[in-house]
Amino acid sequence: MRFERQREEMVSRQIESRGIENPRVLEAMRRVPRHLFVSEALRDQAYGDYPLPIGEQQTISQPYIVAEMTAALDLTPDDRVLELGTGSGYQAAVLAEIAFRVYTIERIYALYARARKIFDQLHYHNIVTRYGDGTTGWPEEAPFDAIIVTAGAPQLPKPLLDQLAVGGRMVLPIGDRRTQDLVKVVREKEGFRQISLGGCRFVKLMGEYGWKY
Ligand code: SAM
Repeated sequence: MRFERQREEMVSRQIESRGIENPRVLEAMRRVPRHLFVSEALRDQAYGDYPLPIGEQQTISQPYIVAEMTAALDLTPDDRVLELGTGSGYQAAVLAEIAFRVYTIERIYALYARARKIFDQLHYHNIVTRYGDGTTGWPEEAPFDAIIVTAGAPQLPKPLLDQLAVGGRMVLPIGDRRTQDLVKVVREKEGFRQISLGGCRFVKLMGEYGWKY
């Protein structure tokens, strides 16, 4: 009950009040128990207006950023979505509430294993997980209707562009190691359209098409 009330307040005060109106996103964030995706010691802060540490020097993003990126993907219930950077698993769960299937990749084994366990406990049977470098995408399952990258990339990873369906949407932070621009890329019949959604700050996307160190 306590967490339900906090979750409701999170959605109305941090997300709706800042202009996110997509009912699918709001409903998904009302449903996913964010406090179960952080360590017990941080549960009381789980619905706060900030990112939190999840171990391995990584973070669970601020609720508003999760909402903004999810809304930018314009998801429908038939969509198949690729996520890079499973982390705590929270963003994947939000996506799974809306989309048909979520494919999520994490390069740190401990985080991958923990998220997999939570997905099973919460019966998210439409989340498929993989351990490894996500910057090469998931070619066997491509093309995707939507791709979300939850770590900061130095540039658009080429394999992800190739794995985006025509009409598909991708959202990712691009920039230097400290600050990035949140970018939305839409694949059109001929070529790609790119829109800037504003500044943001993410941990680094490491890997073959990300940062090397
Ligand atoms: N989406 C996560 C959540 O809801 O908790 C937050 C992700 S955290 C900001 C970024 C994650 O991206 C980290 O867990 C990090 O290990 C992961 N990561 C960084 N580079 C990656 C790569 N090349 N492939 C897969 N995961 C990567």
